[in-house]
Amino acid sequence: MSASEQMSSDCLFCKIIAGEIPADIVAETEHTVAFRDINPQAPTHVLVIPRLHEPDIGSLAAADPVAAAALLTDIRAVAKAEGTEDNFRLVFNTGADAQQTVFHCHAHVLAGRQFGWPPG
Ligand code: 5GP
Ligand code: ZN
Repeated sequence: MSASEQMSSDCLFCKIIAGEIPADIVAETEHTVAFRDINPQAPTHVLVIPRLHEPDIGSLAAADPVAAAALLTDIRAVAKAEGTEDNFRLVFNTGADAQQTVFHCHAHVLAGRQFGWPPG
């Protein structure tokens, strides 16, 4: 069974991968799909997600290290395509305390403004 066939039927991001819910897709690779966040928090705000349904980056790395490594490679390609390869913030909200709301692993690629630290 391929990764794309292992979708979770009630998962919003699996439905975006399957084309069942529209999204502004900016890149697709063997392992990932990248699309613009519907509620952007910066001039560039792209979500990069594995095709494999795993709830967070830790479980993805445990389940499929190749897919986890590909996610990082594809994040870099997205940042490069957005013209911000060397200047972006990468966020993996993991768990409810960190404000994760969609439990399909996703990287937030944020750029185009000055960010604060520590995060809120
Ligand atoms: P989290 O809070 O789980 O780290 O991030 C989930 C992100 O998904 C949020 O930034 C939210 O704006 C985005 N999001 C939620 N629903 C949709 C949707 O239907 N389409 C798109 N493109 N983004 C979504
Ligand atoms: Zn999913």
